[in-house]
Amino acid sequence: MSFARSFSETYAQARGKFLAAVDRAGLDAESHVHPLRGSEDEALAMDVVLDGPRDARRLLLITSACHGVEGFCGSGIQVALLHDDAWRQATRDAGVAVLYIHALNPWGFSWCRRVTQENVDLNRNFHDFSKPLPANPGYDEIAALIVPPTWPPSDEVNAKLQHLLEERGLAALQAAISGGQHSHPQGLYFGGLNPTWSNQTLRQVLREHGRACERLGWIDLHTGLGPSGHGERIFACRDDATALARARDWWGSGVTSIYDGSSSAARLTGMMWLAAYDECPQAEYTGIALEYGTLPMMDVLNSLRADQWLENHPETPEAVRTQIKRQLREAFYTDTDAWKQRVVEQAKAASDAAVQGLRG
Ligand SMILES: [Zn+2]
Repeated sequence: MSFARSFSETYAQARGKFLAAVDRAGLDAESHVHPLRGSEDEALAMDVVLDGPRDARRLLLITSACHGVEGFCGSGIQVALLHDDAWRQATRDAGVAVLYIHALNPWGFSWCRRVTQENVDLNRNFHDFSKPLPANPGYDEIAALIVPPTWPPSDEVNAKLQHLLEERGLAALQAAISGGQHSHPQGLYFGGLNPTWSNQTLRQVLREHGRACERLGWIDLHTGLGPSGHGERIFACRDDATALARARDWWGSGVTSIYDGSSSAARLTGMMWLAAYDECPQAEYTGIALEYGTLPMMDVLNSLRADQWLENHPETPEAVRTQIKRQLREAFYTDTDAWKQRVVEQAKAASDAAVQGLRG
């Protein structure tokens, strides 16, 4: 199967290819059905497949569509891996079980949104909600500029943003915008006020599958940041020097970190993989986000601003809606054979490295 054929045009097609690959591999999928329907009235689910024994001491998670629309990339990678018999044999030989979670946020995947049905960024939603949520005064200050009342933005909004950009720099603005916020439910990078369906379902999956292992690895597939086609390996553990050293031992010295500013991602709060510590406390956990570049950062940000504005204005004419959705998809998925080949090759290399690392 060529790399390109692992990728899909829609969520429904992606789910079909994933389940067909699971079937071909002689495995069984466990489907956690979502309460809502998809954009083509299809069923939505978080599909979970274990390739290996249930009591494996070494477990590798490979997950897609934490950020819905980014699932076009992640799903294609998962399907390609399931079709790779040599890779599957290597995991068995190493005594590593692989848990594929297809579409952590199936609603966002189907409806071409980065967020969940609660308008929540799943990777900012993993908080202890019994405690006060972090404030983000930097976002509060610019909320009305980031998602303005009109789209395209007025000249006044553009001028104010340009002024802030020159005054504070792109990195500071990026941190304020993307770090996560809990005060603007109709804004960007909203972390929510309680656990989303995807959060609760993922935790259940981790409890069911992640309690037997001694060592747990996790590769979470993302897109939309960095140079086109390049997969940045972003450290996805707590700010812990031992874990960072282990991640760099497994995946190379090029592993970047949001804690020391070496990553193209800003410092975030409420990150998803914190659930590994909560739900699999017995395991030694090591993870990365594999983040593939698509378009320049401002193009990606503007596509998200437009999409949130569209969400806040459901009366928008169909032609405008279609154009905004096309832009959003292009911001998170590059529909060329060359890009797909590069992302699969890098995912395969990272997965091989994780298996070697878990084997120890
Ligand atoms: Zn992402």
